[in-house]
Amino acid sequence: MQQEKYRRAAAMIKEAEYVVVLTGAGISTESGIPDFRSKGGLWQEYDPMTLATTRAIYENYSLFHQFYSERLKALWDCKPHRGHDVLAAWEREGLLQAVITQNIDALHEKAGNKNIYEIHGNIMGIYCQQCKGESSVNAFLQKTSCQACGGPLRPGVVLFGEALPQKIWEGAMQEVERAHLLLVIGTSLQVSPVNQLPLLMAGRGRMILINQEPTPLDDSFHLIFKEKAGETLWRIQERIQE
Ligand code: NAD
Repeated sequence: MQQEKYRRAAAMIKEAEYVVVLTGAGISTESGIPDFRSKGGLWQEYDPMTLATTRAIYENYSLFHQFYSERLKALWDCKPHRGHDVLAAWEREGLLQAVITQNIDALHEKAGNKNIYEIHGNIMGIYCQQCKGESSVNAFLQKTSCQACGGPLRPGVVLFGEALPQKIWEGAMQEVERAHLLLVIGTSLQVSPVNQLPLLMAGRGRMILINQEPTPLDDSFHLIFKEKAGETLWRIQERIQE
């Protein structure tokens, strides 16, 4: 029964002319990076509304800096897992055309994917909040101020209340509009406007979901795996290679 589902997913991926993947924090948990909403996720330890905001940069820089320094250091030893590797292999082989990710950890890039839309930014892209000048991870970790204007340094992630990077978001929407198959992996689909992307597929293409917990959009998917992303992608890859 389960084998048949992997086979169906493999067939859907091979048959579709344009395949787009949308990932969230759940694809990175198997690399040792906690997600936000699962048990033991980051939100149980920290209050994002206090920390992950531009207000915190001005009113509580010490805590803001500590939170993102810890996140940066935690990423040092994290590597892509076999699920990331499968997505990179599919892009190389022409089975996958684009990856849209909410993750800020750059693991898709490390795995070898090229056409990536990081709609929530990248934690390593340090810049000055004041003059927007680029800086380095080292400068941020050393808690120095911007060399050009003395402003506070921050990671290149989209904080709560900030707009998404417009060009990247528009590019991501265009990719979904072109897609014949959307594969959604490891996201609770609770964050807006990302959770609108699957709606662009309505009445047009097919959709597969790999997520351990239910999402508000489960009914829209043609195939659902409530399993670990790495294992599931690997099983589908085995069927593709048969
Ligand atoms: P989320 O925490 O809201 O949801 C993650 C989902 O992944 C959950 O539904 C969970 O059941 C599922 N999941 C967890 N481990 C899984 C696994 N091994 N296999 C399959 N499913 C698994 O995450 P979200 O929807 O991405 O939204 C959270 C926001 O937090 C995003 O904006 C993202 O930018 C940010 N974030 C990023 C990272 C990262 O870069 N790795 C980590 C935490 C949060």
